[in-house]
Amino acid sequence: MKKRAITGVLLCILAFAGFGYAGWRYVASRDSQTCRACSRPIHDHTRTIAVLDGKTGYYCCPACALSEHQQAGKPVQITQLTDYLSGKPLAPDGAYVVRDSEVNPCARKEAALAPDKHPMHTLFDRCSPGILAFRGRRQAEAFAAEHGGQVLPFAQLASGYQH
Ligand SMILES: [Zn+2]
Repeated sequence: MKKRAITGVLLCILAFAGFGYAGWRYVASRDSQTCRACSRPIHDHTRTIAVLDGKTGYYCCPACALSEHQQAGKPVQITQLTDYLSGKPLAPDGAYVVRDSEVNPCARKEAALAPDKHPMHTLFDRCSPGILAFRGRRQAEAFAAEHGGQVLPFAQLASGYQH
């Protein structure tokens, strides 16, 4: 009888541990799908990882991560970008960006409607102007030639947000 009770307790502990792990997995996977700053779904080709206040988080795009600096008043360090063309992780050092091209995966497709059914104009969108990252200047310039926008080194873009 005593032995069965102990076995029961052990089974309970195992069950709880299993649920806990499943829950943690669920939360962890959800965190990497939505942007920490704006809760928008993260696109594979603009995924950005940044450290704010010692905590690492996923952001929908570099523009969103960098604007976190202005909102939180604390320095944000971007540790990983995504190459827009290949969808592969990209180190910020040496990366180039295209700012304000016609392509912005974060932008909402349809404008929100005001109560009078007229589209409301967005005054501030943290993901605009859109920023896309590229492995090198050549790729960024080729993209900008087709879709517009301004080509600049990532380091220059990031330093523009640090005040
Ligand atoms: Zn975002």
